[in-house]
Amino acid sequence: MYILLMGPPGAGKGTQAANLVKEFSIPHISTGDMFRAAVKEGTELGKKAKACMDEGKLVPDDVTIGIVRERLGKPDCRKGFILDGFPRTVEQADALGEILDGLNIKLTRVIDITVPSDELIDRAVGRRICKKCGATYHVKFSPTKKEGVCDVCGGETYQRADDSAETMKNRLSVYEEQTKPLIDYYQKAGVYSRIDGSQHIDKVYEDVKKALDVLK
Ligand code: ADP
Ligand code: AMP
Repeated sequence: MYILLMGPPGAGKGTQAANLVKEFSIPHISTGDMFRAAVKEGTELGKKAKACMDEGKLVPDDVTIGIVRERLGKPDCRKGFILDGFPRTVEQADALGEILDGLNIKLTRVIDITVPSDELIDRAVGRRICKKCGATYHVKFSPTKKEGVCDVCGGETYQRADDSAETMKNRLSVYEEQTKPLIDYYQKAGVYSRIDGSQHIDKVYEDVKKALDVLK
């Protein structure tokens, strides 16, 4: 299965990707995670990405397309993948089309998880991530059993630097201007499904599976 998860920041893409990884054992490719790892390691890529991320702007297309091209070329992507947070511009979507053509891969489905914007801000501000294993929580909607401690691995949880209400406003307007046109793009390609992301996490996952035709 070659899945593309779309939707505004905080919609629940990473949360649903984790469910899909568990069930289908295919790699989760999140450009946001890749950039955060590069920032942590202090690589050249990380240096380029950090300033954009801190302001809630997009990392330039050429940089982003380059890392995705390299990642999708790895053997573990042959049997499937979950792309999360890429593409975010029409230029990225065109590049993805060309990369996939080269690999002889067709997208199974583009799943767009939609949530009203005021709710997205609450979701981002309350989001907590495990430093060690990357598991995602929410202080209200999906809390850890013990505050600040990951249920899965016991690691410490943290709040992303860009998960402030102020930066979220920029991220949401970037989404409206640069990413939303992709709805039309993938609708025209006949692979688009929209899902109501404001439902309970488990119900959203049920709808994801329905869209993928693995749950009738
Ligand atoms: P994205 O990857 O789209 O940015 P996440 O999966 O990280 O979004 O989810 C953003 C925040 O919202 C996280 O704190 C997550 O625990 C929480 N969340 C995800 N899905 C739901 C949901 N259906 N209902 C309530 N909270 C959710
Ligand atoms: P995310 O984890 O998907 O919320 O992404 C966090 C940040 O990483 C974004 O606000 C951007 O600065 C950057 N980023 C992630 N994916 C992309 C992409 N496809 N294109 C450009 N920038 C990206």
